[in-house]
Amino acid sequence: MSKRKRTSTSANDSEDDEREGSNSSSSSESGDEEADDVKNVETRDGEEPDVGDVTTPVDTKESEPRYEVRAIWTAKDPTLCAFDEYPDPTSRKTLAKGTRRFRYLGPSSQLSWRERTDMAQEVARSICLSNWPIKAAEIFVQAPKMRKGEWYLDIATTTQKAYEQLAHAEPSFRSHAFELVSSCAPFPSHHILMRIDGIDVRNGLLAIVNSIKEEVHGCVRIIAYWARFRHRPDDDAPASDDFTGTVYVLGAGNDDKIETEKLPGFLDFKDLQWPKRVGVWYDGRPAECSACNWSVSRHLVRDCEAQCCHSKRRRISSPACPEVVEE
Ligand SMILES: [Zn+2]
Repeated sequence: MSKRKRTSTSANDSEDDEREGSNSSSSSESGDEEADDVKNVETRDGEEPDVGDVTTPVDTKESEPRYEVRAIWTAKDPTLCAFDEYPDPTSRKTLAKGTRRFRYLGPSSQLSWRERTDMAQEVARSICLSNWPIKAAEIFVQAPKMRKGEWYLDIATTTQKAYEQLAHAEPSFRSHAFELVSSCAPFPSHHILMRIDGIDVRNGLLAIVNSIKEEVHGCVRIIAYWARFRHRPDDDAPASDDFTGTVYVLGAGNDDKIETEKLPGFLDFKDLQWPKRVGVWYDGRPAECSACNWSVSRHLVRDCEAQCCHSKRRRISSPACPEVVEE
């Protein structure tokens, strides 16, 4: 089974958990206990976690309009970017690092190759002539592409400063403006965003976060936790039972590098009241075994018992496999 199918299964599990969670009694933890739990989350250089960030709203990801993601805890780290500027590890439609995507607000008519080139050149000029100091050598305006009847333009940057300034620039083409729709920050190469889906929501979010902290301790230094909630209209106050069972963890490797082989492929939440084995998704995650049947708990190919490779009905092609059997 492919990674995407696994993800889909996890999402379904999450929905099931949501329904189960809605029938369960509310958490027995008091507010004070929860605050103490949050303070147990790993800190950077001894700093206290910014508990005030618990309710910080974060923009909804384009691909998941029914949900919103909120910060649970963030370190006071100057390299921390907004959540929606990190690429979701389960999405195939992510931008390159240091790139911002703009939507053209002018006519959506077809453009010739020459006109598309003109658009890229005029946008580059308009940015460099704007009040925001960006040099021509710091940006690369790619040719616009049509998506669902609208023109989009990706602009890559070569410096952190240019990336930040570009958020304020006002590119234009034929007197029509552009709207910034998505970005991927030039975050440090030793930072990694992990996504955990399908967590049993009956455990309570703070217990879940502290369990994650225990399980990834020693693998990465945690910089931030975000959780996904059902989106509510503006006039409805957020509620804890809106949590959907998805948590994002931003971690940093030691010595300015990330060793993905040390990261877990799964978390079990064995210390919680409702344990469950769920996948952890991140860029560079080792392949998950798709040969073993569902009677075996999910595992990575590198951890696979040899019997799945010896089945005449299935095949698995991986350097970790001791014997590749063709169908
Ligand atoms: Zn296996």
